[in-house]
Amino acid sequence: GATIGILGGGQLGRMMAHAGNRLGYKFVTLDPTPESPCGQTAQQIVAGYGDRDAARELASRSDVITYEFENVDAEVAAMLEAESYVPQGSRLLYTTQHRLREKRAVEAAGARVAPYAEITSETDLREAAAQLGLPAILKTVTGGYDGKGQWVLREEADIGPAWEQASAAGTGLVLEKFIRFEKEISVIAARRPSGEIAVFPPAENIHVHNILHLSIAPARISDEVKEEAEKLAVSIAETLGVVGLIAVEMFVAQDGTLYVNELAPRPHNSGHYTMEACRTSQFEQHVRAICDLPLGDTSLMTPVVMVNVLGEHIEPLMRCIVSGDEPARKLGVEPKVHLYGKSEVKTGRKMGHINVLAPDTETALAWIAQSEIWRV
Ligand code: ATP
Ligand code: MG
Ligand code: MG
Repeated sequence: GATIGILGGGQLGRMMAHAGNRLGYKFVTLDPTPESPCGQTAQQIVAGYGDRDAARELASRSDVITYEFENVDAEVAAMLEAESYVPQGSRLLYTTQHRLREKRAVEAAGARVAPYAEITSETDLREAAAQLGLPAILKTVTGGYDGKGQWVLREEADIGPAWEQASAAGTGLVLEKFIRFEKEISVIAARRPSGEIAVFPPAENIHVHNILHLSIAPARISDEVKEEAEKLAVSIAETLGVVGLIAVEMFVAQDGTLYVNELAPRPHNSGHYTMEACRTSQFEQHVRAICDLPLGDTSLMTPVVMVNVLGEHIEPLMRCIVSGDEPARKLGVEPKVHLYGKSEVKTGRKMGHINVLAPDTETALAWIAQSEIWRV
């Protein structure tokens, strides 16, 4: 079969390779960390993301190239696009690596974003804070994840210190109005080169300390909001000419208004629930989309709650695995454990996740609430 090359060797690449293997594809990954999660299930070229020679070697060993990480060097991606086959293109990376470019693209697709202003000086920041009103969030335009590179401005006194820290980050900045959302949701759409699009059901996302904790599907939103969210994801996928997956994070305001927060052109943590709960997983769908195969059925087969396993949750999880899980049997839930094979356990590091399949999402949440795993 054909070989798929992945820029990035984290858990997303690993799960992509697991899914692609079942369709007969082989995988090779490029990642600087030896024994990366993906490298354990695929061949690995150990080199930095910006290493052009290594990228060329990846290309020489692959029929199709994709990425699992949006902070790979867009110039290297552009080089690969010119010299080999990168169906997603480098343009999508270029757009989604940069919050201002991304917001403009989202607006061009007819979707709403939180009111924002580009910030290049402390004066800009003071003016924008006055104009947008506080609270507001100052974000670096590139490189942020898990809430890193963000400063919340609650009152005027926060502006000076936030500017000092943010301006030292050495990237552009954007100030966003703080949206008092009722819920956060995300929608993952897949599009293939021929134009076919398929959308997964929205997930309702709950973050703890800016790291995704839970994704609940079906999301507890009205049919109107669900339809609108899916429509926006389709419109963004079409307008950006997406190939592969695009994850669209959104805020749902009290009145049902949707604001797009950010995009990710890859499988997304909030889509892990699809692995057992949907007819096709986001990982298989991504492989299908970049290989221009007919897209799979995205329908939800069972209510599910995905809960992340961070470094601090590993010990209690192991105890639970070893001693059995009577409460799960009693509640009638099926917790499906996925660990990513990371050797270094660190607090706050994503080590795995559990898809809790249940008769309804309340029961899945009840199992999580009674479990000692997330009590640390
Ligand atoms: P990720 O790990 O999802 O890539 P990130 O570091 O890129 O995260 P964002 O998704 O922009 O950061 O923000 C992290 C979280 O902070 C959001 O999920 C949301 O809970 C909150 N947040 C961000 N921007 C806003 C906003 N404008 N209004 C209200 N809350 C916000
Ligand atoms: Mg992000
Ligand atoms: Mg986010």
